[in-house]
Amino acid sequence: MKQLDAQSEALIAPIDQAAMLADAQAWSAINTGTANLDGLARMAATLADAFSALPGDVELVDPAPVSAIAADGTEFEKPHGQHLVARIRPDAERRLLFTGHMDTVFPKDHSFQEQSWIDDDTLNGPGLADMKGGIAVFLHALKAIEQSDAAGKIGYDVLINSDEETGSLASAPLIEQMAQGKYAALTYEPSALPDGTLAHARGGSGNYSLTITGKSAHAGRNPQDGRNAIVAAAAIVLGLKQLQSEECPINPAKIEGGAANNVVPDHAVLRFNIRPKSPDAASQFEAALASLIGDTQQAHEVSVHRHGGISRPPKPVDRKAQRLFDLVRDCGASLGQTIGWQSTGGVCDGNNIASCGVPVVDTMGVRGGAIHSPDEYMIVSSLRERAALSALVIHRLASGEEL
Ligand SMILES: [Zn+2]
Repeated sequence: MKQLDAQSEALIAPIDQAAMLADAQAWSAINTGTANLDGLARMAATLADAFSALPGDVELVDPAPVSAIAADGTEFEKPHGQHLVARIRPDAERRLLFTGHMDTVFPKDHSFQEQSWIDDDTLNGPGLADMKGGIAVFLHALKAIEQSDAAGKIGYDVLINSDEETGSLASAPLIEQMAQGKYAALTYEPSALPDGTLAHARGGSGNYSLTITGKSAHAGRNPQDGRNAIVAAAAIVLGLKQLQSEECPINPAKIEGGAANNVVPDHAVLRFNIRPKSPDAASQFEAALASLIGDTQQAHEVSVHRHGGISRPPKPVDRKAQRLFDLVRDCGASLGQTIGWQSTGGVCDGNNIASCGVPVVDTMGVRGGAIHSPDEYMIVSSLRERAALSALVIHRLASGEEL
């Protein structure tokens, strides 16, 4: 292993493993299922307090309005928690963005609420890896940076949203706004593999609800006067499967609606998800969907109302983003960490940041695994390990490293 230079040694020396673990454990103890607004409010206040250790202003920002479609086709507003924003030296010439999310996939009444030690270095608990441990990683990396000579050379914004696990619909405009003018971004999802491997290129994701309105009639007396919404929904499902390609998997997930057996149904809601692998595949799908809807309306004499769309654009890795990956790998090597990467079908806020043209590595958080399940675990020693990695990367960016 290469000897770490004295400057880097001094930079990472203040990173306090015990304090990081205490933060991650305290945050994991607060239930922050995306719909648990009370829990999210407590968490936001706790994080605001923790991040006030950095110089700069911390504020809580209201969620953007988000609507969804109920089974009966009506549109309703979905409430969300506030997002945390901190701005440090906003006038600096080179500015970075650090992002994380405070929500988890475990609702308030889920059975998984407690932490338990699996062994000396492995802690099981809700949100520890995804991503409360990751929030501790960047908070403590930034604290180390603030104690170094590099601090004055950069400015940065911190965003911790409250709705990443349901697709960041209530924070997408804020992510876009905060990505503007940033030289690079780091996001603190857990590593793609427990050995620290990073997620590289990502496909995108889109969720759609189509509300189909036909005309009801008696199934025996005058079926010819009816316009069957279920049949039209089924026709769209088959059409969607024909649009599917290697570049754009499509999953028709649910049809709701219908009526009694003796009634031609006039209502259906069809829900589906797509996973475009490239921006081209995404725009081709959008165009094809528009004609599929048009054709179905004509052929079945129904009306189709479309809700939703692509909320996570595909994230290819361009030249600058690749340089950021290379920088992370080099900093890892100087710490004795071997860092690789692999593409993934998963999506996260890194997709949204990349679509703004900002280079991003989005799995800078802790090493761990079994996320989104009651077996979720964090490798405890990776807290300091990954904070040291981030501190070195940020220091290099502050010292004029070009991407
Ligand atoms: Zn996550």
